[in-house]
Amino acid sequence: MYGAKGILKRALSGRYPIGLSKGRKVILCYHHISDGIGPLDSPVYTTALDNFRHHMELIRGLFEVVSLDEIVNGEGKGRNKLAITFDDGFMSVFKVARPVLRSMGLPYAVFINGAAVEEGHNWMVDLLAHAQDQQYLASLRAAVGVDDDPSQESAEDVIGAIMEKGVFSETFRCAYRSVRPPPGMFMSYGELEQLVKEGVTIGDHSWDHYVLGGSSSEVTSDQVAKGKSLIKALTGDYSKHFALPFGKKEHFNGDTLRILGECDYCNVYTTNPNLFVGAPDVNGVRLIPRIGLVNDSSQRLLFYLNRALLRQHDL
Ligand SMILES: [Zn+2]
Repeated sequence: MYGAKGILKRALSGRYPIGLSKGRKVILCYHHISDGIGPLDSPVYTTALDNFRHHMELIRGLFEVVSLDEIVNGEGKGRNKLAITFDDGFMSVFKVARPVLRSMGLPYAVFINGAAVEEGHNWMVDLLAHAQDQQYLASLRAAVGVDDDPSQESAEDVIGAIMEKGVFSETFRCAYRSVRPPPGMFMSYGELEQLVKEGVTIGDHSWDHYVLGGSSSEVTSDQVAKGKSLIKALTGDYSKHFALPFGKKEHFNGDTLRILGECDYCNVYTTNPNLFVGAPDVNGVRLIPRIGLVNDSSQRLLFYLNRALLRQHDL
């Protein structure tokens, strides 16, 4: 009745494949967790609180939830292990996700962008907040060298074009920061210091959330160096964890990894949805996969976990 594909999909949406395995490691990646419909709750990065809570209840039963350090450095033996991460440093992680995680005693990590911490700026969120301002959108397209196309007017189209073809430089930085950022979207020093006190792992995600594969070596080095200093100031130590903005292989290149290796970022995270089975170390850098989630149902989460278990290969 369901066909072979349907039967497989149903089987992969249950608890048993992952529940019966041992010694597996998996890392989840979230962004913004929303407890309502905010004007900037974009479907691109928002997970509803109810779904997030269900995910946490589910994984708590199926995995030993551990810190990022433990999952990347510990042995792959015994109970399946899972780590929780959040990219971009949204304020909702502090206000909405944190109470859930604390009540369940679950460790987690946050990957931050310096421009968001210091000034509240993130180019995509700025762009979405000013999506009606055609002059602003045109100035961003021009600043990254994407041809001005009047038929291409939606904010999502502009984001897509910038990601695909953009040259991320100081010109773009000036252009995207020419508007007021929407207030209160990102954690600043105060919230992050509180997270550090509570034992949350802080990693870097580049200063301006650039597609690092579209930046020059100089720009990438600057993006990474500034973030490194910020995390040292916040935590008292340098981080070994760097999550690549956007995280797919088209968003970084060999030069990106070389610079990250030189800056001692030995654990570099992608959004390649696999298990972590121990990646080869290239010039001191390991590429570590994560399963990215955006408002997926618990059934869908199980499907991703089980599919990764079946694939069991790395980048
Ligand atoms: Zn990000």
